[in-house]
Amino acid sequence: MSVQAFIGIGANLGDARANVLDAVERLRRQPGCELQAVSSLYRTAPIDSSGDDYINAVAKIATTLDAESLLQALHGIELAHGRERPYRNAPRTLDLDLLLYGDEQIASATLTVPHPRMTQRAFVLTPLLEVAPEIIVPGLGPAAAFAADVADQAITRLA
Ligand code: ADP
Ligand code: MG
Repeated sequence: MSVQAFIGIGANLGDARANVLDAVERLRRQPGCELQAVSSLYRTAPIDSSGDDYINAVAKIATTLDAESLLQALHGIELAHGRERPYRNAPRTLDLDLLLYGDEQIASATLTVPHPRMTQRAFVLTPLLEVAPEIIVPGLGPAAAFAADVADQAITRLA
């Protein structure tokens, strides 16, 4: 049995674009995960953070991993990029967030799914809707209904 999951990818340190593309390749090779779709890359200004613009994307996977194991796998990919967490919302070489895990709602010490701010952030919502225009956010309804809320956030799709 595999579960459809969506991963938010972001980077704003070093060669952010290369880091995002490498994260996609690592997801493609990740045991227990099958990469099904990847959005375009997007450029966004930092929110509640500092440093250069972010490069963001969303990947759609089918996975046989449970949600906690998937989160561990995502942390492993972050660590491969030398991610450090010096302080909250610090600039990052690579940030991988578990946005959606099937239709599950999860609230544990380590994991909150759906990702709490996903419907309020253009850098998540725009690439998510590109790969899954009909997607339902458990507890909140169709993701598309939140597009108007983030319409004032600048986001540029890269060629
Ligand atoms: P953020 O992505 O919120 O800016 P971090 O990437 O530093 O911050 O994540 C901090 C912690 O958030 C992680 O150690 C992880 O345990 C927790 N977390 C809770 N829910 C999620 C989720 N859905 N996806 C990724 N991390 C999550
Ligand atoms: Mg994160």
